Amino acid sequence: MSEPFIDYRTHIVRCPGCGAGMDGHLATRPGQSPPDDGSVAICAECSQISIFVMIMGHLALREPTRAELDDVLRDEHVQEIITGMRMLREQDRG
Ligand SMILES: [Zn+2]
Repeated sequence: MSEPFIDYRTHIVRCPGCGAGMDGHLATRPGQSPPDDGSVAICAECSQISIFVMIMGHLALREPTRAELDDVLRDEHVQEIITGMRMLREQDRG
């Protein structure tokens, strides 16, 4: 049995890629801690990878640097998530 995935709630943060507002963040690994400064986010709308930043006590999203993006994309787990999200979106479109 694996631990459940946790759906974390935050105030609305905007995807730097498509501008979609998000207040629910599904952990990508069971037992993962809530989003914090430096956490990686993947937009459910456009699959944009972004980084959580803490600004004046509030979480926001920014675009990753090239180095951060390379690092995140090297993670096979992240690649699986992005692939899975794309498949779900294509199913939704019918
Ligand atoms: Zn997006």
